[in-house]
Amino acid sequence: MLAYTYVERGRFELLEKPRPVLRDERDALVRVTLASICTSDLHIKHGSVPRAVPGVTVGHEMVGVVEAVGAAVRSVAPGDRVAVNVETFCGECYFCRRGFVNNCTDPDGGWALGCRIDGGQAEAVRVPHADQGLTRIPQGVSDEQALFTGDLLATGYWATRIGGIVGGEDTVLIIGAGPTGICTLLCVLLRRPARVIVCERSAERAQFVRRHYPGVLVTSPAECRDFVLAHSGHGGADVVMEVAGGADTFGLAWQCARPNATVVVVAMYDRPQVLPLPDMYGKNLTFKTGGVDGCDCAEILRLIAEGRLDATPLITHRCRLADIDEGYRIFEARREGVMKVAVDCRP
Ligand SMILES: [Zn+2]
Ligand SMILES: [Zn+2]
Repeated sequence: MLAYTYVERGRFELLEKPRPVLRDERDALVRVTLASICTSDLHIKHGSVPRAVPGVTVGHEMVGVVEAVGAAVRSVAPGDRVAVNVETFCGECYFCRRGFVNNCTDPDGGWALGCRIDGGQAEAVRVPHADQGLTRIPQGVSDEQALFTGDLLATGYWATRIGGIVGGEDTVLIIGAGPTGICTLLCVLLRRPARVIVCERSAERAQFVRRHYPGVLVTSPAECRDFVLAHSGHGGADVVMEVAGGADTFGLAWQCARPNATVVVVAMYDRPQVLPLPDMYGKNLTFKTGGVDGCDCAEILRLIAEGRLDATPLITHRCRLADIDEGYRIFEARREGVMKVAVDCRP
């Protein structure tokens, strides 16, 4: 089968590989129908994910149809349409039992698919701990509607959950309107805060927010501090979501927060960030940091089925698996106003 592979630093290639097989009684094999390209894939390509193993099939956000399951799998059966979770977790260890599935202590726990074990930019994928890693797609929900369940929407949903937003009262600032920022925005809107402000550097992406979410206020990094002050009641945002991961967006995040606010750091940075404690003394901020505990996929799919959560506007480009190189070229160069590329993996 065709599988997009991390060959060496700087190089991904579409290779012919054997189809995966069941290795454990808790595994499932999934025939991938649709996969997405993620910024984290680019991080692997450029060597900034040390855990990523050369030779591994990349791709960690996909949907498909269950082909086979191991003897211990209970929640899915062959023929089921499923969304694949970006995270692998056992459901039984100390961390899993508390919902901190990102820190699952299983050898495959955490972000394994498309990083440490073969992922889903391929015709098929083996999913360990399938009872936790797969969620059945409700009837009436299309592959495109379900595509971002396991990674982007899981991230936005988790960030919103730990942000502790008070509906009807809070001003929420979201820094960054890339795909993760938009999925965070969608989940924040479900909590109905009094005001949502999105800060985005790119005029194209700011325009995307204005066009699709007219009730949301939009500002730029240069104007963000003054804008948030003018549009919030107590000297800053009540909750800040830092999704951008830029050179100075962490500083912007805490500076735009009101005293006693919560700052959720969703972003993945390339470099260490400075926490200037003397400057923020007395502001009494609470910081919460990523990665995502992706254990809300069933709830996310339910919201999609009810029509309350729709991330399909993010799919700006589509390609076949055979043409995935071109999909990556567009995604990486941010050409043609690209947000997300959906890759059709059916042969
Ligand atoms: Zn991702
Ligand atoms: Zn676990």
